Order: sequence, then structure tokens, then C-alpha cells
Amino acid sequence: MPKFLCLIGLILSGRKITEGLFSYIKIMALIFYNTASRKKEPFTLAPGEDFVKMYCCGPTVYHFAHIGNLRTYIFEDTLCRTLEYYGYKLKHIVNITDVGHLTSDQDTGEDKMEKGALRTGKTVWEVAQFYMDAFFKDWHRLNIEEPTLWCRATEHIKQQIELVKVLEEKGYTYRTSDGIYFDSLKFPRYADFARLDVENLRKGSRIDMGEKHAATDFALWKFSPTDKKRLMEWDSPWGVGFPGWHIECSAMAMNYLGPTLDIHCGGTDHIRVHHTNEIAQSECATGKPFSRFWMHGEFLRLGDAKMSKSSGEFLTVDLLEDKGFNPLDYRLFALTSHYRNYLNFSWEALESAREALKSLHKKTDPLMGKATKVESEEAKKWQNEFKDAIGDDLNMPRALGLLNSVLKTELPEGEKAALVLDFDRVLGLKLDEPRKEIAKKPDANAVDDSAEIESLIVQRTEARKSKNWQESDRIRDLLKEKGIEIKDGPQGTTWVRK
Ligand SMILES: [Zn+2]
Repeated sequence: MPKFLCLIGLILSGRKITEGLFSYIKIMALIFYNTASRKKEPFTLAPGEDFVKMYCCGPTVYHFAHIGNLRTYIFEDTLCRTLEYYGYKLKHIVNITDVGHLTSDQDTGEDKMEKGALRTGKTVWEVAQFYMDAFFKDWHRLNIEEPTLWCRATEHIKQQIELVKVLEEKGYTYRTSDGIYFDSLKFPRYADFARLDVENLRKGSRIDMGEKHAATDFALWKFSPTDKKRLMEWDSPWGVGFPGWHIECSAMAMNYLGPTLDIHCGGTDHIRVHHTNEIAQSECATGKPFSRFWMHGEFLRLGDAKMSKSSGEFLTVDLLEDKGFNPLDYRLFALTSHYRNYLNFSWEALESAREALKSLHKKTDPLMGKATKVESEEAKKWQNEFKDAIGDDLNMPRALGLLNSVLKTELPEGEKAALVLDFDRVLGLKLDEPRKEIAKKPDANAVDDSAEIESLIVQRTEARKSKNWQESDRIRDLLKEKGIEIKDGPQGTTWVRK
């Protein structure tokens, strides 16, 4: 064919090719908000790699997980599922902090694990095992996918010591009477990640610096106190002690994933100190960027529920179940808001999520077992829209909206079912199974009956005064049935719940 004809052919088909290419790019582009650049950026694999190297900061296992923390893991789960939906393979690591996380970010205060042991009267290892098991149970109840690997800080002490040694050899550390510290002044980019005003931070004399050279320095290795025996301690080139909290994440992440990760996740509360310190120590040790993407989940705001917390009610998955919620109701609730926005928790909002999930099941249950293939142009259009929504920085509220829209279409049942199952690979609401109703615990939501008890006690006192023993005994038995024990003393009658 003469060359000019080829050229004409190319010009004529050019428009079509470009359009096709644009729609391909639009659909295929996976875009994430990167905390490091404060921008949305297209995500692709690092050159020469065939899987995504992902590290997520896990729980400190000294207490039950709060549903606010679990919101972060649900966000990370949608990230993993979205990457998988886009065809990526993952190496996803989550750590378990079972040592070194102090009650203050200033490297002072008590070790949360040792405090947990004192509170419960168990050994620190038993505490870790107990809350780790509880955490895994929550994880599965929320249908969060299993990571490639869980790694415990106490099982990686050697790697942490090695990393501190590298930092020491490179001149980034100094010693005080209570530990080995990272010298943040030697890392000029220290403030960049969190956009910290370090000038003011470092000037702040209110911060208890101890022997630290700068307020932004942090402990890499802490020495065991001389006046009391710690429950967890290890030998090191610097003396007996335990690792600082931040070093474990760098050491374990680099041990399993190499010097540069693709995505590092956590909660927004990690940005200022924990992740800033992880970056400083990792990049000083290797001279390479620590992670290409940083993604952070925003807080769950408690609103009215906070008052319940102060009255001793700690919001856990167990508590949700006690109140008759399926943990997946909470998962759906978490998906109704974008992960970078605050989400306001209230029992009413959770009830709405429960109703929404029930109504979803009403529509999807009859379709199960009928799935065919996504074949028609219309069905493919819905599928592409869904892929576009999740690929646009994990827009789960839009993805949920698309699921509802698909259920309203006139698509054949087989295709509808196929789309539901396809979308649920990312939403993780277990729409392929019948909904499991959770029985409410009889005493959950118990009304405060103190006033009624007081009134019964007054009636009983009156009955006793008028020597109506039958009535006074009847009231005593009634109170006993309610689990109230009364004591008559010179100051009157007192009562306690048994
Ligand atoms: Zn971490």
C-alpha cells in the first residue's frame, strides 16, 4: 500500500483511536490521594515489580479495638479489594504492636502493654494474646480480608536492633541516660511530610524534653528502668531495654517489602509523629524514599455516643452485637462516607445502615444462585462506572449508589446477580449469603431504673414503719428479682446492684 494511503488511513481512524484510548485511560486509571503530595495521583506499579507492596499500621494489643480504629482497617480493606479488582497482586503486611507503645508520643509515660498487664492481672504475653485474638475476631466479623502477613513487634527485635545499628553507624543517633535517640535535626526534610511548624514545635518549652536535644527527636531504643523490672525486655548493643514504637514499623516493613513500599497506610493521627518518624529513620538508613504513596483514614466522630463512652461504654464490635447489630451493618455504615471525611457515629445512624443493609438483602437474596455473565452493553456500562468510582480514590459512597441503581434497572436477573456479586468483591457486604440476624442481649440498652428502685425503697421504709411486714418483704423480693441487694443501717437503707 502506498505510504500516503496509510497516512490517510491513520488520520481518519485517529479520532476513534484517541477516543478509545481516552475512555480506556479513564476506566483503567486508579487514582489515590497521596498524603505526601496532598494531591490525587495515578497509581501504577513500580517498574519491574509484579505486586503491590503495602504496609498498614496495626493495633496495639493492650485493649479491645474501638470501632473508630476499625474504620481505618475497613478503609484499608476497600483499598486492597480495589487493587485486586484492578488486577493487582498484593503483598499486604499488618503489624501487631505488642511492645514499646508508650502512653505519650513524647517517649515518656508507661508502656501500654505493661499497663494492660497491670490492669488485668495477666502476664504481658497473655494480654497480647488475648487482645490479639479479640482483634482477629473483629477483623473477620467485619469481613476484612486477611493480609499476606501479620507481624508482631516482639518477634522482630533483631531487625529493629539492626536498623538502629545502621542509623548509629551513619551518625543519626545519640545516647541519653534513658535510651538511644534519633537526631531529627540531621534530617532536614523532617517537617515536610506533616507540614510541621518545627521552629515553633522545637521552641516549645512546654514539651517535656528530658535529655532530648530537640522536641522532634524520638527514642529508637529505651533502657529498662533501674528501679523496677520490666515485664518485656531484651539485650542490645546499648544495654537491656526495649525498642521505641516507631522503629518496629520501619524495621518490619523493610524486612518484608524492601526499602521502598508502594503504599503505606494508617489513621490521620499517625501523620504528625509516627509516620513522620518512620520516614525519617527509614530514609536516613537507606537513602531511598520509604513509600511512594501514603494513605490515611479519617476519624470516626462520636458525637452523642461519646457521652456513653464517658459513662463506661466502650464502642466495640461486641457492643454492637449486644445491641443487635450485625458487624456488617457497621461496615456498610463506614462505606457511606469517603475515607478521607469524618464520619459521625450515632446509634440512629447505625440503625439506618442496618435498615439499608436489610433492604439490600431483600433485593439481592432472590437473585442469588441466578448469576450469569456481565455481557450486555448496559451491564458493562454499569460495571465500568463502578470500576471508575472505586478507582477514583475509593469513592465507596458512589459505588454503593451504583449498586442500588443497578438493582432498580430492567437488566435480566442473571446479569443483575452477576453485577451484585462483582461489586461485592469490593464492598465486602457478604451479599452472597443470607443476612445473619444478631439477637439483642436482654440487658443491652437497659434503661436506668435507679429512680424506680429509690421509689420502691421509700415504699418499703413506709411499710416497715407501719409494721406491714408482708408488704415490706414483697418489695424486698421484688428488688432481689431486679438484682438489687439492700442493707438496712442506722443511716437508712442503702442498695447495690449485684
Ligand atoms: Zn506504624
